[in-house]
Formats: sequence, C-alpha cells, structure tokens
Amino acid sequence: MQIGSAMEQLGRYGTGVGLALIHVGALAAFLPAFYSPSALTVAAIMAYLTGALGITLCYHRVLTHRSLRLRKPLEYLFALFGTLALQGDPIRWVAVHRKHHANADHEGDPHDIRMGFRWAHVDWLYRHNIAMPSQDEIERFAPDLYADPFYRALQYLGAPLQLVLAALLFFLGGWAWVVWGVFVRLVISYHSTWLVNSAAHMVGYRSFRTTDRSTNCWWVALLAFGEGWHNNHHAFPFSARHGLRWFEIDMTWWHVRVLAFLRLADNVRIPSAPMQRRLAYANVRSFGKTGADTV
Ligand SMILES: [Zn+2]
Ligand SMILES: [Zn+2]
Repeated sequence: MQIGSAMEQLGRYGTGVGLALIHVGALAAFLPAFYSPSALTVAAIMAYLTGALGITLCYHRVLTHRSLRLRKPLEYLFALFGTLALQGDPIRWVAVHRKHHANADHEGDPHDIRMGFRWAHVDWLYRHNIAMPSQDEIERFAPDLYADPFYRALQYLGAPLQLVLAALLFFLGGWAWVVWGVFVRLVISYHSTWLVNSAAHMVGYRSFRTTDRSTNCWWVALLAFGEGWHNNHHAFPFSARHGLRWFEIDMTWWHVRVLAFLRLADNVRIPSAPMQRRLAYANVRSFGKTGADTV
C-alpha cells in the first residue's frame, strides 16, 4: 500500500472513531448527574457561536461563496468559531463544499445523494470515498484561503482548540458543562449541518430549475439557521440570502442585515427578481423583496 493511501485510510478511521466517541460522550447527557440549566445554556450559546456564526455565516456564506464580505478581524473571529464546530478547518471545509457545488449529485460530488441518505448524511466522511478531494484538489478548490497564513495555521488547530475549550468549560462549570457544551453541542451541530447534505437533497419542494436534486426543506432551515432553503442556494450560490420567499425564514440573512447595518459587512449579493424569474418553475410566484444585485 502506498504511503498516501495509508494516510488517507488512517485519516478516515480517525474521523470515524472520533465521531463515534463524540456520540457516545453525548449519551452522558441522559445521566441526571451531568444536567444543570447552566449547562443547557452553555450548549445553546456554543451551538449558536459555532454553528450559526462559524459554519453557516462564515464558512459557508462568507468563505465558500463570498456572498458578503466581513471586516477582516470579524471574519477571522467567526472562522475561529467555525473551527470549534469540529467539521474541519476552513480550507478543507470550503474545498469540499465548492467541489459539492461543482458536481452536485453527479460523479465527483463528495456527498452524492444518489448513494442514499446515510451516505450523504455521514458515511461519506469516514468510508472509502473517491470523490473526497485530495490535498492537491483542496489547494486548487480553495486557493484564496490557502494563500492566507491564518487559514493555513487553522489547519492544525482544530483538535487543540477543542481541547482548550473543553478544559475552560471544565474549569468554569465541571463535567456537566463539558458534556453539554462540547459533546451534546457537537452532535446537534453535526446533524443539523449533515441534514443540509442529506434531507435538503431529498425532501421538500423545488422552486428553481437546477441540475441537482436540491430541495427547500423548512425544518432543516429551522435547525440549520436558514441553510435548509437549499434549492434556492443551489440556484443562486452567490446569494447571501437563502430564504427568498416571504415565509422562508432565514436567520443567517437576518445576521447579514444587522452586520451590514453596523457597517461590519459589505458586498452583500442577492439575486435580482429577473434572475429568479429566469430559473423559477412556472408555478412559483411569490418572491421575496430582492430587487437588486447588491444591498
Ligand atoms: Zn447541496
Ligand atoms: Zn453552498
């Protein structure tokens, strides 16, 4: 066996064992000894910081699709929150996701829904996956991030930062804060993100003609801070706003509006009404107020 493929296999096994241990650790939440209202609050705050600001806003809408620009210190802070979601460093996450968009539901998609719900949800992460980008591909898919020393440094800091956080939570609130603030929070964040790749390519409705199976799924949107409006997203990947119709609640878009108002974000991109009409299915009429390319 070549060294490269042995390393790849080792990495996959490590991911599989790591994910299993995190899920087992979260089971401790069922023991009353590890419960306290403050632990629940810590889990909610950490889920918000790492999931909403870290993954959804920063990793996805800012870094992957450049659908808005954050002030640099804020971008770095939110990227740090994203790293604490333990879904991989920004360079790897962005490269995998850009590859998904380049090949969505076709050969080369790292989590191709044609392989089934379980594959697209989690199995693609730790089983043999020929579509998983190689190191060369990662650098090719995310050259903008790879050029930044801050993001190159984060490649090595995922596990150490999580351990520092766990130690801090233990110091402040004991094992209950670690169980809820790390293990339970990670499991909830994982499945919320993974449902975008699985359920939002499988169940729900489609507003726009795209070459993939992406769907708009309201309950994934609620769990993943607006990311469930995934058919809208595949139709307009550059858009900072994913919920386009009046009832498509998109919490991350609210964040974008507030940050733009505070002048902490600019270059906010959304699809114009004609752009939406061009891709819309005939029976979709009600659009959100998106009359300009930028706001
Ligand atoms: Zn997708
Ligand atoms: Zn995307």
